[in-house]
Amino acid sequence: MLMENLYSEISASEAISLRKQNLANAKRVVVKVGSAVLTDDNGINNDAIQNIAQELSFLKKNFKEVILVSSGAVAAGKRKITIPDSTTIGLVEKQALAAIGQPSLMQSYELAFEECGQNVAQILLTHSDLADRKRYLRVRNTILALFRFNVIPILNENDTVAVDELRFGDNDTLAALLTNLIDADMFICLTDVVSLYTGNPQTIKDARPVHTVKAVTQEIEAMAGNVTSALGTGGMQSKIRAAKIVATGGGSSFIAPGREDRILQKIFNGELIGTFFLPSPDKNKPRKQWIANVLHPKGSMVLDTGACAALSKNGCSLLPSGVVEVRGKFGIGDAVHCIDNKGKIIATGLVNYSSEDVDIIKQHHSHDIAVLLGSNDSDEIIHRDNLVLL
Ligand code: GLU
Repeated sequence: MLMENLYSEISASEAISLRKQNLANAKRVVVKVGSAVLTDDNGINNDAIQNIAQELSFLKKNFKEVILVSSGAVAAGKRKITIPDSTTIGLVEKQALAAIGQPSLMQSYELAFEECGQNVAQILLTHSDLADRKRYLRVRNTILALFRFNVIPILNENDTVAVDELRFGDNDTLAALLTNLIDADMFICLTDVVSLYTGNPQTIKDARPVHTVKAVTQEIEAMAGNVTSALGTGGMQSKIRAAKIVATGGGSSFIAPGREDRILQKIFNGELIGTFFLPSPDKNKPRKQWIANVLHPKGSMVLDTGACAALSKNGCSLLPSGVVEVRGKFGIGDAVHCIDNKGKIIATGLVNYSSEDVDIIKQHHSHDIAVLLGSNDSDEIIHRDNLVLL
């Protein structure tokens, strides 16, 4: 019933007018295109690349600053060489395939954009580039300089050097983080599905397209089910997660069919195509977005009900007295989850104490810290400036 309300309460004309308002104000746009859109049985599909190049050049000519996040390196690499049937394709092999495919991918883009009179640049990133705040801001400055040079940056994960814990995992997440990083107004995820559906269209016959999502609630996340495509790594769930990250950064998102001819022009004409996600009214500040979305939490702390309420309702800092249990190992400055006694994550923040020290001072008054640890570096375990409610 709830699912029904989430999309049917908006009429088609209302949905179109919401889109048009947001599209008219969008000056900076991040477009992400997945492997399934760009490659076919013969490798990189040049028609698809040309369509993307023309569409992005169209946005550029219409005074939008635009970046492209493109997958396709692994898929392009796979189609370029003959891999013996006996070879298991694990992480190392995928990293090698990305090294083979990335130059072909960029060459195809260079040629296609050249025909549109548009220069492009390549940026390859790992998660650790964004987890370091200084390098995070450096990436932003480089992209802004490329905008001033009228160049379209094309980004991908630097697959060959990313190790498990330092991976974005999928380019949907990378594109969403970049949207917030450069304060883009809109994230457009071009994929091989037409839109989000009320259920998995591969298995549920009467699954219907969802045109507008006001907020990414648990019900919306449940709609994503486990719809995946053969070539990409993301699937619908990571696209929804990406739209959620963008919404908290104050941007709107689209999930739309990437092989559709003139897809971006259709979106910018306000056609009812794909799924449109509205920005969240509670936008997080840039530093808080970085803490919540970029950093991988190293552990968690279970809080008592008083502390949960103080954090959620009153915007307080986290004091030692509110922590009842420490889980995992973390050091000073790490991102750590705050969870309630039912295991629900309520916040994440940068801690002023290591897990060992929190274990000693937990459930004590801040006045006792100096006695318990020999010195008091801070009254709070997480200061509210470093705390983000989730
Ligand atoms: N970076 C990978 C590639 O270029 C794709 C990751 C993804 O599918 O999201 O092949």
